[in-house]
Amino acid sequence: MTQVTIDLILRDGTTTAIDEARLRKAILEKHVGSILNVKEHAYTVEQWHQVLTAIQNVATKESRLKVPVLYGIDAIHGANYIAGSTLFPHNIGMAATRNPGLVSQAAKITALETRASGIAWNFDPVLDVGRQPLWPRFEETFGEDVHLVTTLGVAAIQGYEQDGPGQDHTVASCMKHYLGYSVPGSGKDRTPSYIPGQTLREIFLPPFKAAVEAGVSTVMINSGEVNGVPVHGSKYYLTELLRGELGFEGVAVSDWEDVIRLHTRHRVADSPKEAVRLAVEAGLDMSMVPTDYSFYDLLVELVKEGTITEERIDTSVRRILLLKKRVGLFQNAFPKPELRAQLHKPEYDQVSYQAALESITLLKNEKQVLPLSKGTKVLVAGPGANSLPALHGSWSYIWQGTDASRYPDKAKTVVAALAAKAGKGNVVSGSVADYKAAANYDVARLKRDARQAQAIVLVLGENAYAESPGVIDDLTLEADQLALARAAKETGKPVILVLLEGRPRIVSAIEPLVDAVVLAYRPSTFGAPAIAEVLYGEYNPSGVLPFTYPRHAGDIVLYDHKGTERIREDVPNTYGDAGFNPQWTFGSGLSYTTFSLSELRTDKATFGAGDRLQVSVKVRNTGTRAGKKAIDLFSHDQYASVTPSARRLRAFTKVELQPGQEQEVRFEIGAKDLAFVNEQGQWVTEPGAFDLMIGDLKVTVNYQEQGKASLK
Ligand code: BGC
Repeated sequence: MTQVTIDLILRDGTTTAIDEARLRKAILEKHVGSILNVKEHAYTVEQWHQVLTAIQNVATKESRLKVPVLYGIDAIHGANYIAGSTLFPHNIGMAATRNPGLVSQAAKITALETRASGIAWNFDPVLDVGRQPLWPRFEETFGEDVHLVTTLGVAAIQGYEQDGPGQDHTVASCMKHYLGYSVPGSGKDRTPSYIPGQTLREIFLPPFKAAVEAGVSTVMINSGEVNGVPVHGSKYYLTELLRGELGFEGVAVSDWEDVIRLHTRHRVADSPKEAVRLAVEAGLDMSMVPTDYSFYDLLVELVKEGTITEERIDTSVRRILLLKKRVGLFQNAFPKPELRAQLHKPEYDQVSYQAALESITLLKNEKQVLPLSKGTKVLVAGPGANSLPALHGSWSYIWQGTDASRYPDKAKTVVAALAAKAGKGNVVSGSVADYKAAANYDVARLKRDARQAQAIVLVLGENAYAESPGVIDDLTLEADQLALARAAKETGKPVILVLLEGRPRIVSAIEPLVDAVVLAYRPSTFGAPAIAEVLYGEYNPSGVLPFTYPRHAGDIVLYDHKGTERIREDVPNTYGDAGFNPQWTFGSGLSYTTFSLSELRTDKATFGAGDRLQVSVKVRNTGTRAGKKAIDLFSHDQYASVTPSARRLRAFTKVELQPGQEQEVRFEIGAKDLAFVNEQGQWVTEPGAFDLMIGDLKVTVNYQEQGKASLK
């Protein structure tokens, strides 16, 4: 039940050399069952094989019961701790693709590479719904909508585990971080969330429920507290809800150091020992301790003194052993040399490249300034222009992703990719790799360099960060970046803003100064060439926002807000549609072609609980270029016993159309898809009228419970 970090078994001052005495202490004396992580940087596959072989040698040959160790790793957007691996866009970009197929392909590749290293357990996917844009882990989420997170989260789990986690091409996945991690009130990582019971069930729980149904093997617990209850110490969350209600039977692992923090941070346990008791009694199976043996020592004491029963230990140990069996460790605990062939295949690069292309979201394109013609001489400026970390974000070869020297040669910066595309002579740039370097904010230089250029590509946003080091106090983009935009505007040249960022940094003062806005999120290995293809028109952008892009830091209102939240600023005490005023709405995304939507229809005007409702709409490419179009289907409950949301995403898909081509897109939904959580905490679809909406089109249907007349 004890999981420790690899640091604990390494020789001091080294990153890969195992200290045999420490290893034996961990496995033979402290009965460590699981090890995680890397020390400081990604390992080569050879290093992984050496490390894992050393561990399994002791575990399977010297320990009393010869039980192998289960190694766990964060492979969050690709096998980010294997040197040279292809990384995929972070989830926030994957959600912009509206393409579950890409999510599942990326997960399959990640599983292949992770297995090749000898590891069978991946701490992914993140199923937290990203509804607090300040939160530094926003980029790890699939965005703000529960249906999107659920659909893409399930696609990832199926990709990782497929028909069982015990094969050479699969790994055990880990839904995380259960539950309510992603909406800290302050926006700071691991700080308290306050979530009404209804919202918890309607927005935050469904991805985890669907993951359990999809067969996810493990769960990792939220480090924070919800409504004053630290999740790690809560029997309600860890047993009643997770196991009783969701029916989860797999392994529940804590997050980093979170058992002891019930004592040191949350102060619900008055001693470290009480913290261990609380977490284990709540239902935790494994503690990511991970830097000492306190959990093991204290748990043994608790059992010996009779506070915790052996039966309770057996329950967790049985789950852990079963997991080890399911991932195949009892058949072969050792890394397989022949699986190295599963690494670094060119087709992995293609999937990553395609995902980057499909994620890029064009948010503004005044007077069709984009696409640029190849002969245009461009100045590429800004702190992101020559930065690999800004393209990749968190969990990229190192935890923080900030060490440019760790990136493989195939990863190019925006400057390099534009030069490769348009020719070196057509690209001018004074930007340097160090995000914070003064040279990246030199407005005089920008103005001078712009004289040689016909257009300015300004790459702004954020450097890489992960978890707490990414905490910010202000969502608004920093003043030195605004100054660059002002200077660019003053040159009189067209300005194309490219945003590399993990969360919607506010650009309301910058947006009017630029002619085009290209949001690339954290597109990773092939992000820069993908951006180049979009800028030069070789790829027609099709990404759409998976979140609401706020205009003002003090006006964070999500797309599925209540009708009463749309407060009009111009008329005191009035509530109305005009008050919802984000910079860009959920689902925004332009193309170089135009699409028209028509004939939104349902096959029935009235439907009942057992019916399936067919919804169709015609989509036509009315422009001159082939293009992909994401179609989001929203619903609005006209009247309900709990104030209805303005709109809720119920289904989505994506079509590709040639110029002039038209296609009928069909969705099938049932009453359950229109349900919400009522005041009693139950899922209900109340009889009455529902608006179904795609683009500007709307059709109204009536739901009637069988045998009952409409109540409203
Ligand atoms: C993160 C988890 C991660 C774990 C192990 C924690 O700090 O919250 O998401 O899986 O570290 O690296």
